[in-house]
Amino acid sequence: MSDWMCLPGSTLGILGSGQLGRMLCLEARRMGYRTVVWSGGGGDEPTQGVADVLISDLFDSAEGLARFLEEVDVATVEFENVPPQTLAAVADGVPLFPEPRAISVARDRSLEKSFFVEYGIPCGRFVIVEDEDTLAAALLEFGESVLKTTEWGYDGKGQVKCSGGEQAGLVWDEIGRERAILEEWVDFDCEISVMAVRGANGEVVTYDAAENEHRNHVLDVSIVPARVGQEVARRAGEIACQIVEALDYRGILGVEFFVRSDGELLVNEVAPRPHNSGHHTMDACETSQFEQQLRAVCGLELGGTGLLSPVVMLNLLGDLWESGELEGSLAKDEKVIWHLYGKSQRTGLRKCGHANFLGEGALERVRDFKKRLLGIC
Ligand code: AMP
Repeated sequence: MSDWMCLPGSTLGILGSGQLGRMLCLEARRMGYRTVVWSGGGGDEPTQGVADVLISDLFDSAEGLARFLEEVDVATVEFENVPPQTLAAVADGVPLFPEPRAISVARDRSLEKSFFVEYGIPCGRFVIVEDEDTLAAALLEFGESVLKTTEWGYDGKGQVKCSGGEQAGLVWDEIGRERAILEEWVDFDCEISVMAVRGANGEVVTYDAAENEHRNHVLDVSIVPARVGQEVARRAGEIACQIVEALDYRGILGVEFFVRSDGELLVNEVAPRPHNSGHHTMDACETSQFEQQLRAVCGLELGGTGLLSPVVMLNLLGDLWESGELEGSLAKDEKVIWHLYGKSQRTGLRKCGHANFLGEGALERVRDFKKRLLGIC
């Protein structure tokens, strides 16, 4: 292990201020670290009251940067869309993990896909789109496909589903004629993800694969362990390790996969931070993904990743509050542990919390819960 370590009592800087930042702050506090969150302006709610210091300046503010650097011993990100200039300036002043290169690969779909190809990571067919002619040819070649902006796309945002017969110009207009990638539509049986962690000394550990179900492109339910064969789960872990090694990564990284009917795995995307599909680790694993991130970033030994109980994580999306019965229903099941994000606006598919249903029969209990509150399974 490298000698450098940031022990409890030190200050962790976090770029970004959403629910992942909130949960990292709470874990840091439990472990005896101070936290300084730089939100980049707006949307500070989740970390308010849980960060020791909250800096709300925009990410291009020299004052914000100076304050952040003055306070923190080590820094990390809780979302990948921090401007590259800010990442570079922070990394000039303090150790920043994961390193800016890995973050930029994950924030830009074209760099990410090119990285997969370069390192032999299996992924679907794609074409980088910089002009209308390229898009027209790719639409014809792929047929059913999806056009995605290279940056700022998440939860299905910045995406247009295509059948192949569209006029390229019109489809491109829909995402603002920005640089994009066209991906061939993947026919899959299910989606799974693996959280992989690489520590300061290069040790890599992975968690069991989670099986993910979405509602309108937003993660709804994660079932752990995923209901896939042992070989598929093993291979997913192996690919996740290959990715963190290739990126010379330090910290936790989420890898999302499509699983095809013959068991073939294709990587959809990676997230250079704790991930929504890793929230079950908070209550069902030896070490939560947030503690693990702190351990990796601060140079401590990594914790165990063993699964202590079968678990199903239900995202508490805004519409679950509409019935007025959410809190009461959660409180009725002693094997449900919930985490709320302190967001005042709870509507639609906004992620406002999550609940881990532990033990046998967890999936049936989640289905019943959703049926009661939403009328859907
Ligand atoms: P993304 O934002 O890329 O994670 O996409 C959100 C969701 O859309 C994924 O979890 C899939 O369910 C679906 N999706 C995205 N890309 C594809 C693809 N190339 N083929 C099939 N489904 C896709």
